[in-house]
Amino acid sequence: MNTYARLPIEFSRGEGSWLYDTDGKAYLDALAGIAVCNLGHCHPKITQAISAQAATLVHTSNIYHIGRQQELADKLCKNSGMENVFFSNSGAEANEAAIKLARLYGNKNGIDKPSIIVMENSFHGRTLATLSATGSRKVHAGFEPLVSGFVRAPYNNVAAIESIAATSNNIVAILVEPVQGEGGVIIPTAGYLKQLREICDKNNWLLMVDEIQTGIGRTGSFFAFQQEGILPDVVSSAKALGNGMPIGACLTAKKAANLFQPGNHGSTFGGNPLACHTASTVIDVLLENNLCALAKQTGEQLVANFSIHLAAVAGVKEVRGKGMMIGIELDTDCPELVSKALVAGLVINVTAGNIIRLLPPLNLSNDDASTLVEKLSAVICEHLADANS
Ligand code: PLP
Repeated sequence: MNTYARLPIEFSRGEGSWLYDTDGKAYLDALAGIAVCNLGHCHPKITQAISAQAATLVHTSNIYHIGRQQELADKLCKNSGMENVFFSNSGAEANEAAIKLARLYGNKNGIDKPSIIVMENSFHGRTLATLSATGSRKVHAGFEPLVSGFVRAPYNNVAAIESIAATSNNIVAILVEPVQGEGGVIIPTAGYLKQLREICDKNNWLLMVDEIQTGIGRTGSFFAFQQEGILPDVVSSAKALGNGMPIGACLTAKKAANLFQPGNHGSTFGGNPLACHTASTVIDVLLENNLCALAKQTGEQLVANFSIHLAAVAGVKEVRGKGMMIGIELDTDCPELVSKALVAGLVINVTAGNIIRLLPPLNLSNDDASTLVEKLSAVICEHLADANS
């Protein structure tokens, strides 16, 4: 169906941070399949894990014990402090599980019409419940009536949440991204999640953190919430968890740890041996190579170097980032920059109209990082010069 306005390019091969189109032209990939291929394309250990598991066992069913699923759940919990995991096949499904958990929590506690606080400018997926949770008119348009039970608040505004707490008696949870990705790489004030944790504790709400884009090392720690020294009740993960193999996960702890009971939720494919063994190997490679720390370091260098290159350029409003989640904000919309960058051999993204979003593989080499800064800065300068002439 016509769901994407596709660009006229097909990539036929990938290796590390590089993609090659059907004509053999090379592109430096600063998008990684939208924060998916955090280890780069066709990492040999991931290729090996997929091949070996595919030759052994691909799928059974969740009605049986699945050792590969248990292994992955143990690694996820060990690296996050969470307690239990439900496996899905995508981010939206992981958030669906989170939303169902919040409702179950409310209903079990006798709350009439349990509601979840969600943020303006957020993105949580394209299923009916997750698009309703999403704070974007563009995502809602045409799909009304939206799923009820969501109360919207401005992002990075603790006072707004406190005022909802003072006036509502049916809130059961907050669902929040640690950095808004689709919304334009919006980085909240340090301590934001910690303050939300405190409000949730005070009001007996669940803190549910959507780490689908920010997780698996992207912002410089395994999950972004860990930089605030807190433990959420629910965490959703997907995207980079499988480095391209579709898999999602909804992790629970504390008040949400044991809410689901047999019959409450399920998935035919979720947690199959192939996806789980791949994701398990992704975590091994991430940890063995210290990629969380590397993401922090390379990300800071990229922001510093882009800031130097673009310092005196009229039309560039801000360069910001958290780990390898980088935004360059222009003062006008710039969707055409994606095609201009492709001509220059760069894969980038523009989101929220005027934000150039970079989500490169976490193991981007220093040479490739320099190439990215030099080439993309030149593309941006040329674009702004054309726009102003
Ligand atoms: N939540 C966040 C923060 C996302 O960035 C995305 C995808 O961009 C989703 C949820 C939805 O994930 P999926 O496309 O795997 O359903």
